[in-house]
Amino acid sequence: MTAAIDTHAHLYFDKFDADRDAVIERARTRGFRHVINIGCDVATSMQCLELAAAYPGFCYAAVGLHPNEAKVSEAELDDILAALEGMVEAHPAAVRAIGEIGLDTYWDRAPIEDQERAFRAQIELARRTERPIVIHCRDAWPETLAIIADAADGLCGVFHCFGGTPAEAVRAVELGWFVSFAGNVSYPKAQPLRDAAREVPLERLLLETDSPFLAPQPKRGQRNEPVYSLHTAATLAEVKETDLDTILSTTTANARRLFQLPG
Ligand SMILES: [Zn+2]
Ligand SMILES: [Zn+2]
Repeated sequence: MTAAIDTHAHLYFDKFDADRDAVIERARTRGFRHVINIGCDVATSMQCLELAAAYPGFCYAAVGLHPNEAKVSEAELDDILAALEGMVEAHPAAVRAIGEIGLDTYWDRAPIEDQERAFRAQIELARRTERPIVIHCRDAWPETLAIIADAADGLCGVFHCFGGTPAEAVRAVELGWFVSFAGNVSYPKAQPLRDAAREVPLERLLLETDSPFLAPQPKRGQRNEPVYSLHTAATLAEVKETDLDTILSTTTANARRLFQLPG
């Protein structure tokens, strides 16, 4: 069985409280070697660390402040940054990335100035802690790509749940970053997303679920979980005109390289 890695999940959600062990066991049984859980604020970043401790060597963590949570004062942001940095220092083996961070004008939950301040501050956090970055972006692709080009020189990361145009996917690749597509790439009306995926070389693709959100087409509307990313991988195999094994082995190698995960 070809190894797989779900590089973006939120298994700390209470939707998994009843059967989290079973969800992880299903993933292991189907060849998944790791799941990276992604924090959205201090509390959920802590929960990602708890999952890393509960499933050692299988679950890893990213810690960060999501743009939708960025409506905070400068003093509050300083406290949040200190807490996140403390997590990296206290749990260096568990924390594989800073994220998810970025810009989101779709939900409009935080003023864009606050989002950009938190985003730029966390790019610097990634630089200080020598961690890759997990980008969340929704309806702000030109602005997000511009900030990365401007402020993240020498850093690397992934644009998770890519939702930009094919030209923006090309730009992300030009920046030297990875691009990850969630289950929505498999939806019938998502041809523009598949056109964007076609522009991303295999060596820059990652696999993700964004569990519990965005279950791929055969499971659409249900709670998403790591094994369902095999459906997303099947869509990517069609788009890239290759086979499922090639998608899995390549995205697994890519994830190990970016997040420095054990082989
Ligand atoms: Zn996201
Ligand atoms: Zn997410």
